[in-house]
Amino acid sequence: MNCHRWLDARAAYADGTLAGAARADFETHLVGCAACRADLAGLRALPDLTRALPRAVAPARDLWAGIASQLEAQRADLADSPAIDWPWRRFAPWALAAGIVVLSSVAARRADPAWSVAPLQGVPEVDRAAVVAPAGFRPGQWLATDASSRARIAVGRIGEAELGPGSRVRLRGVSGRNHRLELARGSLRAVIWAPPRLFFVDTPAATAVDLGCAYTLEVDDRGDGELAVTLGYVALAEGDRESLVPAGARCRMRRGHGPGTPFADDAPAALRAALAEFDFVAVPPNGTVGRILAAARPADAVTLWHLLGRTAGAERAAVCDALARTHPLPPGSTRDGILAGDIEPRRAWAESIGLGNFSSR
Ligand SMILES: [Zn+2]
Repeated sequence: MNCHRWLDARAAYADGTLAGAARADFETHLVGCAACRADLAGLRALPDLTRALPRAVAPARDLWAGIASQLEAQRADLADSPAIDWPWRRFAPWALAAGIVVLSSVAARRADPAWSVAPLQGVPEVDRAAVVAPAGFRPGQWLATDASSRARIAVGRIGEAELGPGSRVRLRGVSGRNHRLELARGSLRAVIWAPPRLFFVDTPAATAVDLGCAYTLEVDDRGDGELAVTLGYVALAEGDRESLVPAGARCRMRRGHGPGTPFADDAPAALRAALAEFDFVAVPPNGTVGRILAAARPADAVTLWHLLGRTAGAERAAVCDALARTHPLPPGSTRDGILAGDIEPRRAWAESIGLGNFSSR
């Protein structure tokens, strides 16, 4: 069960001190390693307290003073539990563990205590109050960064997010199945190690639904934006429109239009240009689908597969035939079924292409 090779990385990651390539390596490992995820979830159980501990070994009374002030701060947050007596000033330092147990059980009624915010650079603000040390992050609160600040968000016990400069994000949901942020503007990089569909980020144009992954979301001042996936899969959804974006691909989104059609990071410029017209121009010029197909390489299967569900008639047939030239239909799926718009053969094709495991959908 225990994963020894990553012991040090795990501890440093939980502390927020793992950086650069080492951090990226560990995040890659994390997505595939249940043992490390479980261990990290345990480390996350008391983040505000453990992260506030001095790094060096300190005299017990100093340690306790720090813990007590943390508990005070948490207590102030627990406004709906006035009946609880908080006698920690009478506790001896060895009673630390008992204090944490009390705190955890009370905090659990209100919100996941593992949601927190820490400054990475500059001075981020939560509801316009400066964040200079790790602090709690509660539903309804806005976290904002200016042009020179960045912040890290502990996403409950299921992941991490990094808010880039010039960004605003609000915490909307903290229940077990609804970890939800709202990114109004700026950039957010998320790494999530929970099962699919537990973490959501709303933007003005669409909602990013985590399917087990790492990704970056960018939203501009108009509310338009782009999603880029580096590990696993993300669904980008708005209304009944959903795009499935695998690692190595990205997807634009526009306010009022929802998500566009995903494309590979290295997709040809001609494909991207035609796709922008297809996705966001009210009446695309004649031949737009033809130009997409003419520019498409075998590596652009993610784009063609999505077009199957967004075209009809002769255009859908052309898309189907173009995709089938590089990625044969799987057994049991027929061209007629695809052209008729049946969901199951399309899903089977996506899985055989490697676009995603649809079992959670
Ligand atoms: Zn591991």
